[in-house]
Amino acid sequence: MGETKRGLLIVLSGPSGVGKGTVRKILFKDTSLNLAYSISMTTRAPRKKEKDGKDYFFVSKEEFENKIKNNELLEHAFFVGNYYGTPREYVERLRNEGKNVFLEIEVEGARQVLDKCKGDDVISIFLLPPSLEELERRIRGRKSEPEEIIQERLEKARREINLKGRYQYAVMNDNVGRAARDIARIIRNRLNKLKQK
Ligand code: 5GP
Repeated sequence: MGETKRGLLIVLSGPSGVGKGTVRKILFKDTSLNLAYSISMTTRAPRKKEKDGKDYFFVSKEEFENKIKNNELLEHAFFVGNYYGTPREYVERLRNEGKNVFLEIEVEGARQVLDKCKGDDVISIFLLPPSLEELERRIRGRKSEPEEIIQERLEKARREINLKGRYQYAVMNDNVGRAARDIARIIRNRLNKLKQK
């Protein structure tokens, strides 16, 4: 029997509110892409409808800082008052099983991952909003955060968008179906390229 080929690492960034989660949900319906979602750890409080162990692992600041100390995170960042990070072991296990592991993370964490993981088996994509006005409308539409947090997220979004050049691909999310198809095409092209090697 042939050896299982190690899966890709797919990094999707983009400002908060751009619709990364919605695009991801469409993308994951395409089972031929063999994707697995990396569930992040965060110290942020769960939003309504968010479930521990599905959307995030919700942990205390102390637990998170222990994970950092024990080098259990592939990357981590502090974002608008909270820690976010990617558990390393889970990602490694899935990739070794041949899954293409999908990381939905902000720019600082992405920088750490892209510094450490180089090569054809890493794909980095930045998802862009059609405009900042549209982004603001989407963030406000969540109705989950106070005004000062919304302002911080918007300010952060402006800074993040300036860093899109660090990514191999930039995809505009003016239509979620189209954005998901664009990303599916990028992944499929890379898988085909690797198959020919
Ligand atoms: P939110 O609070 O809106 O769920 O997430 C805030 C930001 O943190 C988003 O840009 C989201 O993609 C990012 N994020 C989620 N998980 C991680 C993670 O594990 N690491 C990093 N660096 N960012 C993350």
